[in-house]
Amino acid sequence: MLEVQELSVRYGKHIALESVGLRVKPGEIVVILGANGAGKSTLLKAIAGICEGQTSGSVSIDGEPVLGLPAHKVVDRGIALVPEGRGIFGELTVRENLVLGGNPARARDEVQANLDRLTTLFPKLRERAGQAARTMSGGEQQMVAIGRAMMSNPEILMLDEPSLGLSPLLAKDLFQTLKTVRDAGLGILLVEQNAKLSLSIADRGYLLENGRILREDKAQVLLHDPAVQAAYLGGA
Ligand code: ATP
Repeated sequence: MLEVQELSVRYGKHIALESVGLRVKPGEIVVILGANGAGKSTLLKAIAGICEGQTSGSVSIDGEPVLGLPAHKVVDRGIALVPEGRGIFGELTVRENLVLGGNPARARDEVQANLDRLTTLFPKLRERAGQAARTMSGGEQQMVAIGRAMMSNPEILMLDEPSLGLSPLLAKDLFQTLKTVRDAGLGILLVEQNAKLSLSIADRGYLLENGRILREDKAQVLLHDPAVQAAYLGGA
């Protein structure tokens, strides 16, 4: 289980996160909702060990502290991030992108087994294994990015705005993919602008405003709450 306690992040004088606490258990999807600038990306970056700000508090996985470790050590403890904008290598093939994701020490001996597992889970990655990643559609590229992160055998998969730039139909497909990943037993921590779609597949959600957690509840409760609808769902 991923556990964040009293996590604060400041960039110089600006406090981006203040005393944030949250949990993600194996086999659940947790979504963080918040307006632009609320601190959502900062939260994922701080957990992943790539935050430029000054951090305090604690982040642990299965009781082992990870806050302050370099990013590759965080990956080796079982936390993988799919960054905003995906960050895949366009000139490399799908397979080469996936293999690169298998480099962390915790997964290095299982690259072939993980490739087999992932391409069974996502047959499209097998069909397109030899294709240059840049020639894939936006939705397919997002799948490559998720697949690459999963090659490190994570317990917790974090995604920053995965539906950005995707058509509504592709975004829906992508969220179905996330359910498949959850059902495979991973915990998912998701940051999304698309509140309606993300709450509809999530188990729980947190509302983040100005760097603080305002509320935590079951996703279905948040989805049907008039105040949440007005603030995050465009009154939908
Ligand atoms: P968005 O949805 O717009 O991406 P966000 O909720 O992900 O927003 P963050 O990117 O975490 O928000 O930023 C939170 C605050 O911290 C913002 O006010 C932002 O300007 C500031 N911030 C983020 N990164 C840095 C940085 N490297 N240096 C200084 N300030 C930063």
